[in-house]
Amino acid sequence: MTDFWNDGDPIADTAAPDGPIETRWERRKFSAKLVNPANRRKLTVIVVGTGLAGGSAAATLAEAGYHVKSYCYQDSPRRAHSIAAQGGINAAKNYRNDGDSIYRLFYDTVKGGDFRARESNVYRLASVSVNIIDQCVAQGVPFAREYGGLLDNRSFGGTQVSRTFYARGQTGQQLLLGAYQAMERQIGLGNIEMNARHEMLELIVVDGKARGIVVRDMVTGEITTEMADAVVLASGGYGNVFFLSTNAKGCNVTASWRAHRKGALFANPCYTQIHPTCIPESGTHQSKLTLMSESLRNDGRVWVPRAAGDSRKPGDIPEDERDYYLERIYPSFGNLVPRDIASRAAKNVCDEGRGVGPGGLGVYLDFADAIARLGQKAVEAKYGNLFEMYERITGENPYQVPMRIYPAVHYTMGGLWVDYDLQSTIPGLFVVGEANFSDHGANRLGASALMQGLGDGYFVLPTTLGNYLASGPYEKISPDHEEVVAARQAVEDRIAKFLSIDGDRTVDSFHRELGHIMWEYCGMERTEEGLTKAIGLIRALKDEFWQRVKVPGTGEQLNQNLEKAGRVADFFELGELMCIDALHRRESCGGHFRAESQTPDGEALRHDDEFAYAAAWEYFGADQKPTLHKEQLEFEYVHPSTRSYK
Ligand SMILES: Cc1cc2nc3c(=O)[nH]c(=O)nc-3n(C[C@H](O)[C@H](O)[C@H](O)COP(=O)(O)OP(=O)(O)OC[C@H]3O[C@@H](n4cnc5c(N)ncnc54)[C@H](O)[C@@H]3O)c2cc1C
Repeated sequence: MTDFWNDGDPIADTAAPDGPIETRWERRKFSAKLVNPANRRKLTVIVVGTGLAGGSAAATLAEAGYHVKSYCYQDSPRRAHSIAAQGGINAAKNYRNDGDSIYRLFYDTVKGGDFRARESNVYRLASVSVNIIDQCVAQGVPFAREYGGLLDNRSFGGTQVSRTFYARGQTGQQLLLGAYQAMERQIGLGNIEMNARHEMLELIVVDGKARGIVVRDMVTGEITTEMADAVVLASGGYGNVFFLSTNAKGCNVTASWRAHRKGALFANPCYTQIHPTCIPESGTHQSKLTLMSESLRNDGRVWVPRAAGDSRKPGDIPEDERDYYLERIYPSFGNLVPRDIASRAAKNVCDEGRGVGPGGLGVYLDFADAIARLGQKAVEAKYGNLFEMYERITGENPYQVPMRIYPAVHYTMGGLWVDYDLQSTIPGLFVVGEANFSDHGANRLGASALMQGLGDGYFVLPTTLGNYLASGPYEKISPDHEEVVAARQAVEDRIAKFLSIDGDRTVDSFHRELGHIMWEYCGMERTEEGLTKAIGLIRALKDEFWQRVKVPGTGEQLNQNLEKAGRVADFFELGELMCIDALHRRESCGGHFRAESQTPDGEALRHDDEFAYAAAWEYFGADQKPTLHKEQLEFEYVHPSTRSYK
């Protein structure tokens, strides 16, 4: 027991088979119980989220014959945040014949995650990666092709092979259109009931099982309860707890957090990915940050001036006065080191006073060499839309002057704890895509989120969810059941509370301040002192929020302030748990860098003897200490070693 948490019993992933890793998924599929096709149409599955994970899951489950109820808060399923993904999706196809294999993708991902991911899951991810590409090509996803017609590949950080499939800088959009078309077919056939502009505000748990959700129609304000035989959360990541991030403005934690409050353990919340390649913040007016895809590091070279305080224009700084620091420090991976390493290196050079641009918080990403080598047309063909986006935002032409980039919050490796079957600690509640904690450990390699979301939705969930449903039938739950009524009442009371406070501060002002605390103390570098301070600051700000927040309007109308208030209230609780998780992990690993735990040359120092586990937290109330359950990680195949990209 400590001041901030209690220690609980260890947990185990009981669903993963043992034996040779290459056959675990095959054996799990074979041992899974099946639902007779005639019985599937009698079963209802709720899927919250229509991004790549939820869209692919809903389409596949409906295609298999289940009745699916699908929810998203956007006006169309194809506007889910996944549409923003630019760079690409990994698959171990080895089209380049450069030594790639399922085993190598597995190896790279376990190592890239700094030995904090579950081997069984990662191996399965690597094996289904090859099926994903076939599935998407069959759907007509227009992946880039080489002159001879084969699918093209490029490289992403943390690997030495080219295994990233892409569709210019719009890979997420094209993949989502594929999943969306598959969903639309099932919507047309009446197998998917699509509910856009509906927000899940509570999970309904009856007799210990997930049996439904409470949703609010965001246009009319109507609150309804929706029942099902199982619930799937595909609600994405929570990077917006930092206020400024590369995530779409709507991304939030509410669906996951409501499930957490109902008993689902939340794992590794402090593992945040800070992406090195984003457009630097330009002022306090800003509400969002923009990613420049990692694919740009294939051809762009990262540098800063050698001398601190050098304010000359980049073109006026001669070659021998430039420091291509990634190439210098990490000669074997160079500009393609993983994101955690590149982000920290950028922070270090800026801390030394060598940063560029306003405030000195930026480094150059320079394409001059690539343009000289390949010609502007070839660079434009690969990255044209990204260059255009950069110019529109900054007013600078990156064909002529180097881009300026700086790290920003991008992805959250933490999420609801799931077993090998992707089932949370609440039976009947499955979690897929960025919303779960699985597969990426303490650091996600580029182009692997799309792979995981689609792997979960197209291939894994349909098998494991079927196994759960085959263990039924589960009794039908009436909307009058006391748990259903209580869940609905809790939502109504919370909305009434927000509207009644009538304070004098906007929701956004609280969110911005919370984000500032998170970035300052739980961002790229964390210390015991800073995290302890942050927990105090968050608690004080949360109390103030519940006294002073102003939510104008009513609950029976489109009310974006009300939507935001609910999300920010959940971000407060999540932010506190992130700091507690970061505080308890007295080691540096992946996206979690504890200043007290570094090598003499400033690299992350893990402590495998103490921390080779996933930290899964149990909720006991907003003002109660959470309980820590540890899932010990076993490394039978890829043995933990010091990660070196030098
Ligand atoms: C700018 C950017 C570029 C990226 N590029 C890449 C890339 O090139 N390659 C890669 O592998 N990864 C990339 N990523 C990461 C990747 O895009 C995401 O991790 C992934 O798309 C998440 O997919 P998802 O289906 O889990 O969630 P999302 O796409 O975020 O979808 C979440 C869904 O849940 C719904 N939802 C959430 N909460 C609720 C609620 N309470 N009620 C109802 N509905 C709800 C939303 O409406 C939405 O439909 C990028 C991320 C960003 C920010």
